[in-house]
Amino acid sequence: MAVLGFIGVGRMGGPMASRLLDAGHQLCIYDVSAEVTKPFAARGATIAGSPAEVASQAEIVLVSLPTPDIVRSVALGGNAGIINGTRIRMLVDLSTTGPGVANEVAGQLAEKRIGWVDAPVSGGVTGAKAGTLAVMVSCPKPAFGEIEPVLKTFGKIFFTGEKPGLAQSAKLANNLLAATAMVATSEALAMGVKAGLDPKVLLDIINASSGRNSATQDKFPRSILPRTFDFGFTTGLSYKDVRLCIEEAEAMGVPMVVGGAVREMLAITRATFGADSDFTHIAKLLEDWAGVEFRG
Ligand code: NAD
Repeated sequence: MAVLGFIGVGRMGGPMASRLLDAGHQLCIYDVSAEVTKPFAARGATIAGSPAEVASQAEIVLVSLPTPDIVRSVALGGNAGIINGTRIRMLVDLSTTGPGVANEVAGQLAEKRIGWVDAPVSGGVTGAKAGTLAVMVSCPKPAFGEIEPVLKTFGKIFFTGEKPGLAQSAKLANNLLAATAMVATSEALAMGVKAGLDPKVLLDIINASSGRNSATQDKFPRSILPRTFDFGFTTGLSYKDVRLCIEEAEAMGVPMVVGGAVREMLAITRATFGADSDFTHIAKLLEDWAGVEFRG
């Protein structure tokens, strides 16, 4: 099989790259952190010194990077950027970066005959490890035909259309809802626990009732009740997603009243616990404010 490039092997990119190796692909990897690339070198992947070096070894390069600014600089930035690679034909963005940067970078890559594929994912670190992610794709149809077998390694594919950034809009809509579920569930539990309910009993009730959601079914039982706060998604990244979603909505004249409140709750969580804290710390904020603990 041809060599694939992979840039950004963090919480999500690491397990996804690992699945590609398991499936028999050869990988050329780059990450600013040497620590995260070490296990891949041990498994036979080539470790490159820059994004351009990856793009000179592989025709298809996948990236899983934190923010739109980092995706822009890795793709276009100076001599070391992907755009200066000698082999690359297709760049696949697995990150959550919003439609704005997708349009900008896709346009500049097109001038060099490099194709752009949006492929943001949902399902967390657990889904990345298990290959059960939702993979949202937008790109020209021929590119989709070529990249589909690779993306199937990560989970279930949803083709949204050919327009650059369209899949990113789907991803932002989903992540606004996931963050809203965390905030609203934390508020509801704070009220219930303060009233004297056992948090585990209350969650069991909600999960058998109409209030159930991704926070009650997954985040609270897995990372909050056991007090591990280790879901695997940082507060800084969740804040970025909701901010991007509201910016897109504003640009199109779509009001987001609840979204604005969720963004501020994430801003407060970030100011209190730091951008690198796990985003399940939203629950801790409500615990502190209400003087309760969600212990299971
Ligand atoms: P992460 O911070 O764990 O991983 C990002 C990796 O990129 C790190 O290894 C980091 O060293 C590397 N990196 C940073 N700057 C770089 C640069 N300039 N060049 C090369 N490498 C660089 O983040 P993550 O949680 O894996 O998230 C990655 C993307 O996936 C984000 O856009 C995030 O919003 C999205 N996402 C995350 C989750 C989740 O649950 N963690 C779920 C779905 C989507």
